[in-house]
Amino acid sequence: MNQIETPALVLHTFDYRETSRIVRIVTRDAGVLSVVARGARRPRNKFGAALDLFASGVAQVTMHGTRDLHALHGFDATRSRRELAESLDKFGAASAVAEFCIRFGHDSETGHLFGAAEAALDAIAAADAVSVPAVAVANAWRLVAELGFAPTLSQCASCHAGIAADADVTFAHRAGGALCAACARRAPGGRRVPAGARATLTAWLSGVESPADGPAIRSHLRLLREFLEEHLGDGRPLRALIAWEERQQERPAIRVPRQGVSE
Ligand SMILES: [Zn+2]
Repeated sequence: MNQIETPALVLHTFDYRETSRIVRIVTRDAGVLSVVARGARRPRNKFGAALDLFASGVAQVTMHGTRDLHALHGFDATRSRRELAESLDKFGAASAVAEFCIRFGHDSETGHLFGAAEAALDAIAAADAVSVPAVAVANAWRLVAELGFAPTLSQCASCHAGIAADADVTFAHRAGGALCAACARRAPGGRRVPAGARATLTAWLSGVESPADGPAIRSHLRLLREFLEEHLGDGRPLRALIAWEERQQERPAIRVPRQGVSE
């Protein structure tokens, strides 16, 4: 057994037995952990509201070797992020970020994912209502970059030839990014990504805000989901991301020049 104290962020929580809760946290020092908070469902327990979804704090954890479930002794909350529960859009986006951390976090370098996840949730919490989708998709791609599997966009993912900035490309999920015209002809399938959408994606991956709305966001969300599914490769759906994507499809169409990823 090994006691650690580490900054952490609550990703998911569910009831466990009569009085406890199991909490998934992403930590700065030990990656993504499942911990049991004993007594957390009793009235006036020591955790109080600290373990609310998307809250940050300092977690005291006893690590049980290679077991999957560790013990949470305390969680001193530093930030609650209640704003994320005030809008369905923000909550949906935050849930997709949390799901990303849970699904991709186990093999990640510790620290990077925690910092990027906090930054993503803070950006979504602070976004005005209209820009929530673009801010969220941009931050999801930054998480991808933080974990080291960002798509290749300025050169061909297959032959590494440079691709002109104004070129429309084919995006091949399996190859890991954009293909040059010659490689695209040899590998049918993939998504057409117009130059404008590729520029937006490049900006997002490098941490630069770039607006996108309506059809463009829906195209970007689909590209993101397909890319993540290809990388996970386990056939299990990204439920929170899909739910959030479906929500974007219910929005009334906004009349903007089409900049998204085409069919
Ligand atoms: Zn090529």
